[in-house]
Amino acid sequence: MLTWKDVINFSVKGNPTPDRRVEKTNDEWYKLLTPEQFRITRQKGTERPHSGALCSIHDAGKYNCICCDAPLFDSTIKFSSGTGWPSFTQPIKENAIKYERDTAFGMVRVEVMCNTCDAHLGHVFPDGPEPSGLRYCINSESMQLEKETANDK
Ligand SMILES: [Zn+2]
Repeated sequence: MLTWKDVINFSVKGNPTPDRRVEKTNDEWYKLLTPEQFRITRQKGTERPHSGALCSIHDAGKYNCICCDAPLFDSTIKFSSGTGWPSFTQPIKENAIKYERDTAFGMVRVEVMCNTCDAHLGHVFPDGPEPSGLRYCINSESMQLEKETANDK
């Protein structure tokens, strides 16, 4: 299980190697995404709190990157943080997410991105529930829910 110490280590010393890479130009992404998805994932935007479609959804399934469809999180690690953004305590697997120190707006935060295509997802904070203590605060617009079907079981 990842903890805040691991997150800081990744952001300082380098990220885990992804299983695969997807790289496209901004023009190519722009054609594939809605304007809001593009603004958030490729220009590091943030959606308004409580505006995201996935915020209050707790159906079983996987949350995949809206850009490259790589699995990022799943419903078993989602929790209600009350912040207005979908929140998770862990990535679906250790190398799904990459971490970068973000000093925008005069704050020191840790940005989280898709490790496959570098889509901006949100930030991670050390005030989540035990046992990991992590809170991944993620924009709805950067993910799509792949609902679990009976065949997956
Ligand atoms: Zn991606």
